[in-house]
Amino acid sequence: MIGCFANQCEYCRSSIVPGQRWVREKIYDAALNGRDPSYHRYHAELFATQRESCWEKHQLEREMARTTACAA
Ligand SMILES: [Zn+2]
Repeated sequence: MIGCFANQCEYCRSSIVPGQRWVREKIYDAALNGRDPSYHRYHAELFATQRESCWEKHQLEREMARTTACAA
């Protein structure tokens, strides 16, 4: 995979530059069983125009997806 070692935000797809805060999330994938886990990275930094960081938005989206699934 190209750029697999680059620090790229999974949410906004832009790179995470040194000095910015970021969060990593372990990817749970049955296909990775017994292999090294991989991680998604997200900005934990608030940009000037944002009210939530990429990480917080990602959490919200995941929460909404779960709520929708339960309501069905
Ligand atoms: Zn981001």
